[in-house]
Amino acid sequence: MKRVVVAGAGISGLSLAFELERLGVSVRVLESEQRAGGKIETDRCGGYICERGPASYLDRQNSIMPLARSLGIAGRVLPASAAGERRLVVADGRLHDTPLDAAAFFRSRLLPKSAKLRMLADLLLPRGPSARGQEESVTAFASRRLGALAGERLLQPLVSGLYAGDADVVSLPAAFPLMATLEREHRSLVMGMRADLKQQRAQRRAGSDAPRLSSFVTGLDELTTALASRLGDRLRLGARIVQVERAENGFRLTVEENGSSSTLDTDALALAIPAHQACAVVRPLDSDLSEILARILYVPVALVHLGYLASALPGPVDAYGFFVPVSERLKILGAIFASSIFPDRAPARFALFSVRTGGARHPETASLPDQELTALAHAELRGLLGLTAPPAFAHIARHQRGLPQYTLGHIDRVAALGAGERRYPGLYFHGNAYHNAGVPELVSRSSKLARRMVEELAR
Ligand SMILES: Cc1cc2nc3c(=O)[nH]c(=O)nc-3n(C[C@H](O)[C@H](O)[C@H](O)COP(=O)(O)OP(=O)(O)OC[C@H]3O[C@@H](n4cnc5c(N)ncnc54)[C@H](O)[C@@H]3O)c2cc1C
Repeated sequence: MKRVVVAGAGISGLSLAFELERLGVSVRVLESEQRAGGKIETDRCGGYICERGPASYLDRQNSIMPLARSLGIAGRVLPASAAGERRLVVADGRLHDTPLDAAAFFRSRLLPKSAKLRMLADLLLPRGPSARGQEESVTAFASRRLGALAGERLLQPLVSGLYAGDADVVSLPAAFPLMATLEREHRSLVMGMRADLKQQRAQRRAGSDAPRLSSFVTGLDELTTALASRLGDRLRLGARIVQVERAENGFRLTVEENGSSSTLDTDALALAIPAHQACAVVRPLDSDLSEILARILYVPVALVHLGYLASALPGPVDAYGFFVPVSERLKILGAIFASSIFPDRAPARFALFSVRTGGARHPETASLPDQELTALAHAELRGLLGLTAPPAFAHIARHQRGLPQYTLGHIDRVAALGAGERRYPGLYFHGNAYHNAGVPELVSRSSKLARRMVEELAR
């Protein structure tokens, strides 16, 4: 029986270990913290449910529901309210809808007429670098297809929303492979997105599992808690992998646990830890791999949860939330209307907002003292929503290295890590540093990786 170690008990490591166990492989998961879940962590306080990391997911991969079923928690999946479908963007200091329907879009005031006309050029323009698998920044892609202003108000907010990143340096095919595929398959991005939307709607009408924004009844950590408890004593908390070296058969790990250090030999090692950690761990094995990992940068993110009496809101806030394009004079990156999407996130008569700050554009904001950060989040939220009272509740979650940045060159870096995996059979890089930070995508990759590992271990 081959020995397999998974490093890291975030959603990537946990779901990988779970899949491996289902395929009959016995694993050991080593997690440096005293809790499992990684970025997924839910705080429940004062009747509020505050997600310190991800708050919801869109299961395009159809990976979470099958996993929840296998864990016996399918009944705990919580679909978002209809508000979850409505996304807002700040333009000229005000909130605007981003309607998906063409007629409503052309009626909306999100863009001036000239920018809307420029967008129509997308229908005629030829394919560009992303469609050919070459890297270009999101800004370059968006300006090329839709024009600068439409790109700034429609695509750049996605970079901010998903990666807290800077669209000028984030690689479109690395961060948004779907868009590159749409351009490749449909030439026009607008036509591609329409076709994609139509397909989703048809799936929904046919009653199949069309992707729907979801979470779990009392928070996303229900999923990681269930995974961790299924792994039982195969999961070791408080065990940090410090380094990996070659051993006679496979690898020798140095593990720090309870202040002491020991070694552990294994045939296979899946590193489902952030790239900046993996970088130190693999250095003794291969300094080139370590250098590549060091080039995957992370940005700080702080989430400020603010709770208000419903009477402080000028009206219903029935949307997912809003994103702030870079040209707006605001420091916050956006906000999720947590209790509009999932009403139980706040006590009755209160509303909960999760304001995102920091990121590549305003990294310094993420380390402001609590009071200043809360005041900033409230002031900017008040300006946009017209709140008439201060928050009744505040909660801050900080991540010094919150989200990995798939900057230009990322595809080559990931390819070089793939070559490293081939150089060291039994070594695997997994997790949000490489392909897609979304929770469903990570779970889906875990299933594929588990099958690949089983195949390779059998050789
Ligand atoms: C603020 C924020 C909001 C987000 N919002 C969303 C969202 O709404 N929807 C969505 O789908 N995604 C969202 N994401 C992204 C998503 O949360 C992450 O991509 C995902 O949770 C990462 O999982 P992971 O297992 O790859 O990494 P992590 O969760 O970072 O897990 C890595 C684990 O490895 C452990 N570890 C580190 N070093 C070592 C070591 N040397 N030895 C052993 N263990 C080690 C860590 O302690 C950690 O538990 C968000 C992320 C953040 C930060």
